[in-house]
Amino acid sequence: MIKFRSFLALLAFAILPIGAAAQYSEMTPTPAPVAAPNAHNGPRISYSAANVDGPYIALTFDDGPSKTTTPRLLDLLAKRGVKVTFFVQGVNAHEFPEIIKREVAEGHEIGNHSWDHPNLAKMSESAVRSQLERTQDVIFQITGQKPKVFRPPFGSFSEKQRKWANEQFGFKIILWEVDPLDWKRPGSAVVAQRILTNTKAGYIVLAHDIHAPTVDAMAETVDGLLAKGFKFVTVSELIAMDHPKPKPATPAPSTTGSSSVTPAASAAPTAAAVP
Ligand SMILES: [Zn+2]
Repeated sequence: MIKFRSFLALLAFAILPIGAAAQYSEMTPTPAPVAAPNAHNGPRISYSAANVDGPYIALTFDDGPSKTTTPRLLDLLAKRGVKVTFFVQGVNAHEFPEIIKREVAEGHEIGNHSWDHPNLAKMSESAVRSQLERTQDVIFQITGQKPKVFRPPFGSFSEKQRKWANEQFGFKIILWEVDPLDWKRPGSAVVAQRILTNTKAGYIVLAHDIHAPTVDAMAETVDGLLAKGFKFVTVSELIAMDHPKPKPATPAPSTTGSSSVTPAASAAPTAAAVP
């Protein structure tokens, strides 16, 4: 018995310093891990959101211009001093160059959304090149500028194609973080509600200026976003503000070897399905 007690005492003495040391090390400020974003895959070329310091968002409208709905949207944006990005189809730009001119004159950005909206992931390189090049050319003829951003129809564009388009055209590939599924025409109130509920700072929001109910939703949507304190910028302005995300503060990993293999704490939660 006595023997056992003294053993315990000994053990306590042996353990104490370790405990103290452990406590001390937890209180010692540990330097933040040096972020090396993209070190493994070069500069970032695809964006669905940007990590920004202010309440900046980019509202984007695809598939236009439309003769009827786009001018209506431009009116309500102008009234509120809000800048957005239009990902246009070359075929529509060709048909309505005056609307493209107005978009640019009023401070909006024009992005390339292919010539006539095919599923590019299933097409040959030369066919994809034609889709992108024709659209660049028609926008250049109208505005004197070539788009720097590209959004693949349906978001359908392979990793290899993204890299290729970046190399060949200098494009940043722009996807989205908020999709109200407005093309399914759920009603203007629903479109506004979905965008207002899901939009956060740095997010790119998708909508379509060729659908009347979407444009009907935009006064409420934009006013609601302004009321929440968001600031509207074009996609190129938003991604220019992007900077590496600091690693979230996690408990310092134990260096004593006792830690079991823990799965990366909160890896990949969101990332909803993309059409
Ligand atoms: Zn589209």
